[in-house]
Amino acid sequence: MNMQRWNRKYATDITADDDGERVSVAGWVHEKRDLGGVFFLIVRDISGFAQITLPKKKVEPELFEQVKRVPRESVVVVEGEVKSEKKAPNGYEIIPQQIDVLSEASPVLPLDTTGKVGAELDTRLDARFMDLRTERTKHIFIIRSLTLRTIREFFDERGLIEINTPKIVSAATEGGTALFPISYFEREAFLNQSPQLYKQILMASGFDRVYEIAPIFRAEEHDTTRHLNEATSVDVELAFVSDKEVMALLEELIAFVYSRVVDYPGLAKLNVKLEVPAIPFRRITYDEAIELLSGEGEQIEWGEDLGTSAERTLGKIMGELYFITDWPCAIKPFYAQPAAEGICNAFDLMHPRLELSSGSQRVHSYELLKRQIESKGLGADSFEFYLDAFRYGMPPHAGWGLGVERLLMSMLEVENIRDVVLFPRDRRRLTP
Ligand code: ATP
Ligand code: MG
Repeated sequence: MNMQRWNRKYATDITADDDGERVSVAGWVHEKRDLGGVFFLIVRDISGFAQITLPKKKVEPELFEQVKRVPRESVVVVEGEVKSEKKAPNGYEIIPQQIDVLSEASPVLPLDTTGKVGAELDTRLDARFMDLRTERTKHIFIIRSLTLRTIREFFDERGLIEINTPKIVSAATEGGTALFPISYFEREAFLNQSPQLYKQILMASGFDRVYEIAPIFRAEEHDTTRHLNEATSVDVELAFVSDKEVMALLEELIAFVYSRVVDYPGLAKLNVKLEVPAIPFRRITYDEAIELLSGEGEQIEWGEDLGTSAERTLGKIMGELYFITDWPCAIKPFYAQPAAEGICNAFDLMHPRLELSSGSQRVHSYELLKRQIESKGLGADSFEFYLDAFRYGMPPHAGWGLGVERLLMSMLEVENIRDVVLFPRDRRRLTP
């Protein structure tokens, strides 16, 4: 097959100004409309739609019969002449000379790609390849790509170095969260729940501003609309700074991502009213948070973590992105730096609907870190490879982890986290 011959153009690269030009478009049969004297074939590609117009009197009967028969969602290449047409999408139509069917679709489709008939999330995820042919899903994933590109651009401008740390590890990162065990030759290993230990080790290397965008694996038993078993985390670690600086970096990043997504034309298809959040975000302490909650009749014991209900209630009060700071050390990991009595220099970035990120100033003293690991009931032995990096010159440092899916679902007002992952992994889902 000579693909070159087609001189293929994307549907939206052709305009009314191309009137009289010979072009080819390639894509999927989106719709067929028989209006009696004229037959319309709407071909869809990643850019949009092209109207192929077949006036019954003018086209070869054979070509006409072929088009009538081709099942929706088949892959076709259409070659023909452009005619300016105000009523057609993008202001033009194509009068075909030739239509090649490259791949015929089965007649019964798993879901409707025009979006006229809605489908359950499970149906869409089972046929994700086809779900991606719908406008809404397509734009979600283009925005995901735009978001990741924007994050890299943001870090690049600030001189952060992108790193890749192992996802197969020997030890638990923080205890608490359940890990997925795997067999690693004759030993037991785990899928990493976070790059935490490795990005901290790098602070001892002189690479003093790093980031990683990579999968994290969490054997969460519960089935919620904001937890995945494989998620994507943006992780940052900076040396010679405190939690305050990395909080500022985080809010700047969020505002920067929003500002890019706001400008994306396809956003209109998602029906979201997106506003770039003003920075700095509001900051409340953990103590203030439980005080506010108590005012709403929700009692949290000091030192108790905030559950889903508390997060929702606080979200309603705050109404916008905010930080919760000064957490009790008891509910933060061993690497969070203690400040005053039982309080750590740790923070969570909250969207009114859910937690987006957790971070802290880190302990950089070997002795204190070792003590804190032990006081959390973890064996210092299995953390030797990590602790070693703290013995030969470790600068003060701070960082955070931000869930890419949490950022996307909150920004795009998507209900279920599975909607912003191509092939989600959850309690039930291991294929596709
Ligand atoms: P949560 O309390 O909401 O379950 P967490 O506090 O356990 O989250 P962290 O360990 O603080 O999560 O991880 C940092 C960030 O990574 C979270 O703020 C979140 O954005 C993201 N994240 C963590 N676990 C998951 C998950 N199972 N699915 C999706 N994103 C996650
Ligand atoms: Mg957290």
